[in-house]
Amino acid sequence: LGSFLLALLLLVSTLLAASAAIAPSRRSLESSRYLLLGVSGFAPGVYLSGIEWAGRPLLDAAIASQITAGGFLFAAAALLCACLFQSRNRDRERELKLETERELERNNAQALTDFNRQMALHQAQFDSLTRLPTRGKFREELNEQVKVAEENNQRFALVMFGLDNFSAINFALGYKSGDSVLVEITRRLQDAIPAGDRLGRIGADVFAWITEVAPAEAGLATLIEHCSSLQKSLAAPQELSRGAKLNASIGVALYPDHGQTTEYLLRCSDAALHQAKTQGGAAIQVFESALYQKASNYLELKKDFYLAFERGQLQLHYQPIVAVLDGRLSGVEALARWPRADGQYVSPDQFIPIAEAGDLVGPFTKWVVETAVRQMADWRARGVPVSYVSVNGSAAQLRAPEFANYFEQSLRETGLPGEYIAIEVTESNILENLDATVKTLERLRGRGIRVAVDDFGVGHSSLSYLRNLPLDTLKIDRAFLRGVPRDTESRTMLEGIITLAKNLRLPVVAEGVETQPQFDFLNKHGVKSAQGFLFSRALPAPELEAWLTQRAPPSRVVSLVA
Ligand code: C2E
Ligand code: CA
Ligand code: CA
Repeated sequence: LGSFLLALLLLVSTLLAASAAIAPSRRSLESSRYLLLGVSGFAPGVYLSGIEWAGRPLLDAAIASQITAGGFLFAAAALLCACLFQSRNRDRERELKLETERELERNNAQALTDFNRQMALHQAQFDSLTRLPTRGKFREELNEQVKVAEENNQRFALVMFGLDNFSAINFALGYKSGDSVLVEITRRLQDAIPAGDRLGRIGADVFAWITEVAPAEAGLATLIEHCSSLQKSLAAPQELSRGAKLNASIGVALYPDHGQTTEYLLRCSDAALHQAKTQGGAAIQVFESALYQKASNYLELKKDFYLAFERGQLQLHYQPIVAVLDGRLSGVEALARWPRADGQYVSPDQFIPIAEAGDLVGPFTKWVVETAVRQMADWRARGVPVSYVSVNGSAAQLRAPEFANYFEQSLRETGLPGEYIAIEVTESNILENLDATVKTLERLRGRGIRVAVDDFGVGHSSLSYLRNLPLDTLKIDRAFLRGVPRDTESRTMLEGIITLAKNLRLPVVAEGVETQPQFDFLNKHGVKSAQGFLFSRALPAPELEAWLTQRAPPSRVVSLVA
């Protein structure tokens, strides 16, 4: 029996030891140890009782059976302990597993939050379209660059690229194409700037670039050359913009020459960019300190203008255009006016560029066209002898696809025939986007609206191309009236322009007629219509009506182009 029990115990302990080896936790090893201990206590009794010494059992049978019984009891106790341990271990292990799972879950949740936070941060720092740093991130990078340059006595440039006609492309081709254009622009910029230079997209259509510049004039000259070639590469027609040329204006500010802090450099570069834009676009401007003041004033004015427009404070005034032969009123030119709170008017030369540059161009154009057409319809209905209203259209306004719609819609709403409306565009406006502008003008002429070339003589004035444009009237720029008739050179110039106009066989209006001798000169040279302070400044509609009634005898409607 002893041998049998010993074998059984050995088997159990082997199984337990094996299970402990399969799932080797510290606790299950412990329970196996108890078991082995029991076996080791039990075995000697059994073993020794079987050994004989000099023909006699080595141990007395009674002692041997006591040792065996003791070992057996010890083994049983050890086995019990092992079982207890085992069950406790199982509970503990279950708990441990649960705890581990919970911790894992907690870690996962934390990791997810971290990931989301990282993503959000990345999205805020990098533009999703171009993957370039956004304004905030770029500012940080500029900050770092300033520190590095300060420590190492380096010179660098902050260059800003502003796309001149991007809003028009967006407008004309839709936002999707606009986005593709931006991606393409980014690619071209990245291809053309040295590897390692920082580039960012800091506005909807403004990119910024940080690049090291060699000392003195030579360094700046090299940079300007580089900017100029970049400008050309950006302007190369894009598939996406349907061949439209994308001009970029460039503003440059240098560290430490112009500014030594991040903020100031940003402002200097921005001011230079703004200045480049006012030069008609596609220009490169290096910062000058006087620019800074100008830019601040401009921003102030811009803010005020947006507010004034929103509050309906803009007015449209009308300047008489008279027939030279009999001095009767033929038409009027609609001119925008912005009275400030103190009653002073801001010059249109100051606020028209603001109205044209930003997202106000559409609403502003709509307002001008609607106001002018409604006014004309009202005059016509009341028999006020104004035979047409001439509305100015700038290049930016003409580019908007809605331009022609505004006219057509207003004419439809008022029932006014198109013959009562004229549009004034300058030659450079037409040339800037020749095909599209000609199409728009032809569409409007189809409605009876006439087209006048504004500031005639200032532009190219080449007979060959002017002949091919859809034009009805020429308005000689007031600069040609200055010095006439006193100054021989001015006289010759004006005569030349009048001859050119006659060759085009188009009716002519002379602008800026301030004196009787000027008027007589025009009369002598067969100019049919005149506009200027000699007759009147631009007046609000009721004052224009008063001006008309004061002029005896009552005017008869004389059509300028009839
Ligand atoms: P513009 O189209 O050449 O308008 C004629 C300008 O000459 C007006 O200046 C008018 O007041 C001024 N003027 C008229 N007669 C005389 C004169 O005898 N002597 C002098 N010295 N000036 C005379 P204003 O109103 O300051 O407008 C300046 C420019 O602003 C306009 O030049 C036009 O290009 C732009 N503008 C004005 N209103 C509008 C508008 O509603 N839309 C657009 N796109 N441009 C406008
Ligand atoms: Ca005009
Ligand atoms: Ca003009």
